[in-house]
Amino acid sequence: MRKITIVGAGQAGLQLGLGLLENGYDVTLITNRTGDQIRDGKVMSSQCMFDTALSHERSLGLDFWGDKCPPVEGVGLTVPNPEGGIAFSWAARLDAPASSVDQRVKMPRWIAELENRGGKVDLVDAGVEDLERYATDSDLVIVAAGKGDVARLFERDADRSQFDKPQRALALTYVNGLTPREEHSAVSFNLIPGVGEYFVFPALTTTGPCEIMVFEGIPGGPMDRFGDVTSPQEHLALSKELLDTFLPWEADRARNVELTDANGVLAGRFPPTVRKPVAVLPSGRAVLGIADVVVLNDPITGQGSNNASKCARSYLTSILEHGDRPYDQAFMQATFENYYDYAQYVAAWTNALLMPPPPHVLELFGAAASHPAIASRFANGFDDPRDFFEWFMDPEKAAQYLADVTR
Ligand SMILES: Cc1cc2nc3c(=O)[nH]c(=O)nc-3n(C[C@H](O)[C@H](O)[C@H](O)COP(=O)(O)OP(=O)(O)OC[C@H]3O[C@@H](n4cnc5c(N)ncnc54)[C@H](O)[C@@H]3O)c2cc1C
Repeated sequence: MRKITIVGAGQAGLQLGLGLLENGYDVTLITNRTGDQIRDGKVMSSQCMFDTALSHERSLGLDFWGDKCPPVEGVGLTVPNPEGGIAFSWAARLDAPASSVDQRVKMPRWIAELENRGGKVDLVDAGVEDLERYATDSDLVIVAAGKGDVARLFERDADRSQFDKPQRALALTYVNGLTPREEHSAVSFNLIPGVGEYFVFPALTTTGPCEIMVFEGIPGGPMDRFGDVTSPQEHLALSKELLDTFLPWEADRARNVELTDANGVLAGRFPPTVRKPVAVLPSGRAVLGIADVVVLNDPITGQGSNNASKCARSYLTSILEHGDRPYDQAFMQATFENYYDYAQYVAAWTNALLMPPPPHVLELFGAAASHPAIASRFANGFDDPRDFFEWFMDPEKAAQYLADVTR
């Protein structure tokens, strides 16, 4: 039986481990936190996932929250005008619902599931020496450590990384008591020119259904203020204050919100980064990076967990197709390139949304208010962002599409 060690119990590591177990591999998962520690810790993400990524979980029998997790039925966009009113606002339904299960709920359950299905779980905060040991004992070592320090063993790919600095100051606020949207639930996305973005949507957390507020402030700008916050209540108060200042219609929905729990807040920032997929250890043995370790995007487009699911699925397919042949560096590079054929589009689209919108994008956003087909195409693009390259990302294709829709 081929032995595979995976370092990191997040979306990618657990999903891949469970997929390998189902196919008869000997799987050891290394985690630096127990399930209980993850459940009792801070929130890590807003983890909104769309249908294709969710389908990979479902195919492994890993959706334990289908009936408990409130669905995200659409995507909406609102852009304020300079006077503080609404320039335009629209929403469209998703063809299939998205959903967000707090990683503090999902990962402990999946760790237990991995053990139930015959996997081994070791509690280690893995460093280079541990990786050396795993690489000696296993046929393949996959590093699924997300933004963990160990990811720095993988060299930044300067050609494929558009930025070398954080592009947004991020904050999460998990709340109860938010007024629902009227027509259908949605990721309500607000784009405040020169300030940043705010989006909010329903989710399932440790205490039950909730809403997750996500703030993306342009660094140094008026929404980049969570760094000075010293308590969860202060974090909540600042969240409300920012809505009052920039998005009064969202402030109205959030008038009575309370934190789901004292750990339902997060603030931080990181540079979006593409890394080389193979790290060579001092012994000369190689290990393979996956998901956020190799392609780390800003959360502005909510793609990271989706990518982690798709990357786990893509790597599983590559491993199965490789059969009994050795997992050499050529295999590792090819496995990554297969995934990057997809992920490069997600990264390029996400990076584009971090920049001020070009005229053709503003035109499309404006036209979507009176042409539901445009709104629908935008909303459903989150499931597979490659479609944006057929209309949204290119001024000429955008003009052609706009002419076709508005004719
Ligand atoms: C503010 C914010 C909002 C987000 N919102 C969304 C969203 O709405 N939709 C979406 O799809 N994505 C979103 N993301 C991104 C998403 O959370 C990540 O992309 C996704 O979790 C990556 O999965 P992963 O498995 O690669 O890594 P992770 O989920 O980070 O898991 C890595 C695991 O490895 C463990 N680990 C780290 N180092 C070691 C070590 N040395 N030894 C052992 N274990 C280790 C960590 O503890 C962790 O459990 C968001 C991210 C942030 C920061």
